[in-house]
Amino acid sequence: MQYTLHLRDRDLSLLHTHAENCLPLESVALLFGVIEDHLVVVTRIECVRNESDKAATSFYVNPEEEYQLLMDAEARGEELVGIFHSHPAALMPSSSDLDNMRLNPVVWLIASKTSGAWSSKGFVLDDAIAVEIPIMIMADVS
Ligand SMILES: [Zn+2]
Repeated sequence: MQYTLHLRDRDLSLLHTHAENCLPLESVALLFGVIEDHLVVVTRIECVRNESDKAATSFYVNPEEEYQLLMDAEARGEELVGIFHSHPAALMPSSSDLDNMRLNPVVWLIASKTSGAWSSKGFVLDDAIAVEIPIMIMADVS
């Protein structure tokens, strides 16, 4: 089953700005939305603080903050559909990312600017292997 991530152009820009502002640390954001068939539609992003002790190479979200955001999302009829974080290095899930993907089986959106400008790729875990999924950028409405 092939998932496609739907993301607003504006939200992707906000995520990349968040990643830039967090340098030299990794940035984190939670992606909320709905899953319709094979489409993972992001309707809202929440940039959160990276509370890792080694925030230059890993990330950790405060569990109370995450819980509060999950409760808010549930009240809005949304669910956690993805986790965004940025990398100082390659645009690939690290071995600790793979462990965390197992615990949080949502879309993992990873950003890197090793090529000069920020770019992001989406991954899902399939049989312990990270598989890249297509990202469809939606034009901003309203
Ligand atoms: Zn990572």
